[in-house]
Amino acid sequence: MVYSFKLRYKGIRINPDQINKIQLCFDTVSSQSPIPWFDDFVGVAYRYYDLRMNVVPLITDQKQSASLWHDTIHWWLDSSIKIRFVEMDDDYWFIMGADSQKPDSNLAFFKILPKSEHYERFKKGHGGEAYLRLGVYAKKSLDGVKKGALCTCGHESQDHDEGDGDVCLFHDCSCKEFSSFQVNLLKRKKTITDIKFLEENNVKDDSLAWNCFNVNKYSKVK
Ligand SMILES: [Zn+2]
Ligand SMILES: [Zn+2]
Repeated sequence: MVYSFKLRYKGIRINPDQINKIQLCFDTVSSQSPIPWFDDFVGVAYRYYDLRMNVVPLITDQKQSASLWHDTIHWWLDSSIKIRFVEMDDDYWFIMGADSQKPDSNLAFFKILPKSEHYERFKKGHGGEAYLRLGVYAKKSLDGVKKGALCTCGHESQDHDEGDGDVCLFHDCSCKEFSSFQVNLLKRKKTITDIKFLEENNVKDDSLAWNCFNVNKYSKVK
């Protein structure tokens, strides 16, 4: 919409420059778009490191993790960073957002993840604060690991047959291919002091969680 108007007040006429400024103001306010939700990450790791618990969104690509930090998280104001956990049966929603000094490239994070013992440990032990770091998650194949490295099936690398598609040699194991992973924590960090665990019925009282559920759940239900 374009508003053209002339203002006259006691003989003062607003010149076109001023009108442009007024319009500009109006545009910035009205075009303020909601922060996009980002869920293109593999999961979240919880680790003790540097005395505090660390919350570590896991990214598979080194470059992507660098640009996420550089373009988005770097500009977050520590005191405004919020993390919300919304539990639903065996899963939970991880929701994270903050005010940014560079709103144009801001993102809010969310991911639906299965509850894990690491998650439960974080829930009990965070003590109201945590460090936020990014982690690069690297999958390792059989020829990239040392002897004794554990496969996700729980058996060691040498129990997998290199000659036969890396299958696990234990009879009662259904593992068809050795797979292991490594997480590299990036050094840069932010401090989070606003951490809440919620249930779906109190999501509406929390603006970040409410926004997330509206966009990513309620608006998709048909
Ligand atoms: Zn295996
Ligand atoms: Zn196995």
